[in-house]
Amino acid sequence: RVRVRFAPSPTGGLHLGGVRTALFNFLYARQHQGDFILRVEDTDQTRFVPGAEEYINECLAWCGLTPDESPLKGGPYGPYRQSERKASYRQYAEQLIKNGYAYYAFDTAEELEEQRKLQPNFRYSHENRLQLRNSLSLSETETQQLLDAATPHTIRIKIPTDETVSFTDMIRGKVAFDTNIVDDKVLLKADGMPTYHLAVVVDDKAMEISHVFRGEEWLPSAPIHILLWEYLGWADSMPQWAHLPLILKPDGNGKLSKRDGDRLGFPVYAMNWTDAKSGDTTKGFREMGFLPEAFVNMLGVLGWNDGTEQELFSLEELIQKFSVERISKAGAKFDFEKAKWFNHEWIKRSSSDSLLPQIKEVLAHHQIEAEEGYVNRVLAAVKERLTFVEDFWSQAAFFFLQPVEYDLNAVKPKWSAEKTVFFENIIPSFEGFSDWKAAELEAFFKEAIQSSGMKMGELMMPFRIMLVGGKFGPDVFQIVELLGQNEVIERIKRALL
Ligand code: GLU
Repeated sequence: RVRVRFAPSPTGGLHLGGVRTALFNFLYARQHQGDFILRVEDTDQTRFVPGAEEYINECLAWCGLTPDESPLKGGPYGPYRQSERKASYRQYAEQLIKNGYAYYAFDTAEELEEQRKLQPNFRYSHENRLQLRNSLSLSETETQQLLDAATPHTIRIKIPTDETVSFTDMIRGKVAFDTNIVDDKVLLKADGMPTYHLAVVVDDKAMEISHVFRGEEWLPSAPIHILLWEYLGWADSMPQWAHLPLILKPDGNGKLSKRDGDRLGFPVYAMNWTDAKSGDTTKGFREMGFLPEAFVNMLGVLGWNDGTEQELFSLEELIQKFSVERISKAGAKFDFEKAKWFNHEWIKRSSSDSLLPQIKEVLAHHQIEAEEGYVNRVLAAVKERLTFVEDFWSQAAFFFLQPVEYDLNAVKPKWSAEKTVFFENIIPSFEGFSDWKAAELEAFFKEAIQSSGMKMGELMMPFRIMLVGGKFGPDVFQIVELLGQNEVIERIKRALL
């Protein structure tokens, strides 16, 4: 059975890379009728941030990536928070020691700090482990004495010397590591908490994870994990690995970082994240006006394509079409302009009904109360012009407010008495107009221009400006129909004053 997990550490808001990892796991699970699990990796208590787990839940819900098993929902393999599984890890660390794959290390934080001062490139490894204070360098009796005295200690993996660890990555193919460059990583900390490396392996085993999709930044950790699977005697049930390509800065120069967002003025977080300590808010896609469909679509094609020119995919389509073979090895450039294009396309495709709640918020923000049917019709008229829902205001404010200024420069040739007369005469005709529809109004208006002897352009633009104030907006007769008879007449009168 396919069982995949999204395993974030609750250390802050989720950036786009994190959500893309969740998405690819989700797609793979759904495509194979498998399970999508959320596991919260909170063993590093020093990095724990309140609110981060709630943020993750809310973010997955917003994107439509609801887990089948999670801390919130529970499930047969729970608990799903590593801090609540604390008791399960030590036995495995001890088992590794017993079998010669790990050792106790008694070096204090100060001692290690001292080493780092002496050698800036200090690594705890096969090269120097015998010069440090651990159960490999000390005698059995010394070690036992230290343990009996409850001396604080960690447990470290004993990485083998001169070996090659290799595996087949679903995206990268065969990957090999020289063990000599891998450190003896801590598995169990002095406080009894496992490190990420131990916890991730123990839990992937316990939760029967079949495939791991995670960011490329975890590739260097893969040899440690693979050795642990082997050393714990679980090699047969090891999941298949897929390391997803990095998300790069827009110019392709290196990994996208949170600071790039601040610097270049685009969000990198899924939703707003407010740091509890500093109170600083990092802007998110959601609050910037992105629709979840657009956000998910944009992430889905960040490092994946279906082999055709198609770029717009709903979550359902992504589930159908997703394929590991088409995930690229090369980093994927994040392009904010492209992200906006996705949003624009998804707004166009969304039903007015689904956008209405957000549109109402935009209107409320400008103290506008309007009848729902009217808002809906206006929305239909301007939807194609929006990149963000917020743009509704710049595109459609004139449907709710009369113009306060008129762009007279756009009136060419200049205003004349003849034009005033034309519009004065239009008023009674409009008052008696029985079928207030764009097509009928257009035919009537054009005929009136013809009989006036003036040119189309001389009167069409002034008409628009009378209604909206400037040279913008959708088709003028669409505006006329939507504004309605009374309002149009009133606006013409006001403009003539
Ligand atoms: N807790 C790790 C993270 O924060 C999980 C890495 C993995 O998927 O193995 O991304």
